[in-house]
Amino acid sequence: MSIEPAIAAIADQMTAWRRDIHAHPELGFEEERTSAVVAQKLKEFGCEVTTGIGKTGVVGTIRVGNNPRAIGLRADMDALPMEETNDFEHRSRHAGRMHACGHDGHTTMLLGAAHYLAKTRNFDGTVHFIFQPAEEGRGGAEAMVKDGLFEKFPCEAIFGMHNRPNMAVGKFALRMGPQMAGGGLFDIHITGKGAHGARPETGVDPIIVGTQIISALQTVISRSIAPLDSGVISVTQMHAGDAYNVIPEKAVLRGTIRAFRRETMALIKERIETISSGIARSLGATATADVRVVFPPLVNNPDEARFVADVAATIVGEENVNRDGPFVMASEDFSYMLDKVPGAFILIGNGGDVESGCEVHNPGYDFNDEALPLGATLWARVIETKLAKRA
Ligand SMILES: [Zn+2]
Ligand SMILES: [Zn+2]
Repeated sequence: MSIEPAIAAIADQMTAWRRDIHAHPELGFEEERTSAVVAQKLKEFGCEVTTGIGKTGVVGTIRVGNNPRAIGLRADMDALPMEETNDFEHRSRHAGRMHACGHDGHTTMLLGAAHYLAKTRNFDGTVHFIFQPAEEGRGGAEAMVKDGLFEKFPCEAIFGMHNRPNMAVGKFALRMGPQMAGGGLFDIHITGKGAHGARPETGVDPIIVGTQIISALQTVISRSIAPLDSGVISVTQMHAGDAYNVIPEKAVLRGTIRAFRRETMALIKERIETISSGIARSLGATATADVRVVFPPLVNNPDEARFVADVAATIVGEENVNRDGPFVMASEDFSYMLDKVPGAFILIGNGGDVESGCEVHNPGYDFNDEALPLGATLWARVIETKLAKRA
């Protein structure tokens, strides 16, 4: 592994930063302390600092020379609403809150890169260090984008990184296109006609309509989506009725959808709407489906993905960069930024020597500090390579 020596030299300092953030976890859009710590350090390093983008988001900027090119590097800062079970010194000081997804590590790796790049300035152009709030389902990336992130800080490419505990430190993985699923939620409201349970012929039973809709939804993945594409529709709730002898007037179905391609998300949404209203109508009821895409699929730009994989290979060797990495059914809101600006999201091994680290979102999770200098080195090399000084 060829860790940048100037970054290796501050590994202990980075570990201290990371553990301090770990001990003080804050939920999405409440990252007051974390963003203050980040802004303070960026200022110390000599970055221009802008706070309050997307509420608690922070952007640090370094400009070198007159080259108008600019690159964005993004980390997330929020924690999860769960109780930590670890008992080490840097465990969470806040009840019911925990850095269980390693965003403390992501923030620290980006700070490490900012520290190095601000000092060495061995590139030509601009780098924006984007510290995002509220990744865990609270819409932080979208909030920053809506707050004018890319108008205020135009970037020709952006990169993000996430740790992966079941991959050893020293390894990277990514995909050259779709990598993480988009996710959505739906509610289907069915209205029939209430009746006595003994006289069904006088009513329209929304429960029967609901079961027919659920059955028909099974055809979307199996018949409407290409066999080599993939998606999920799970009906996870069905609510209707209050009495043994009353056919209710209304029923509600709810559930979740996932897909790796925007087009597939759109197709699933359209099929749920059409099937729900069509089946209800055929049975004398009405149904309206409200399908909301919460996260778009995370799709890497193939050129930028290849670029960051090439940079990673110069640090850890080609054999440790998996360019055909795993598809992940979970969602990640960096996808909102990748929708606006081409870029790539890379996974960094966080499992130690063995590939069996405690999984993220587990109460016993802790970011592996061994990965800090490696992640910071990757960010530094991404900038020094993309914005290389001309000889
Ligand atoms: Zn998470
Ligand atoms: Zn995460």
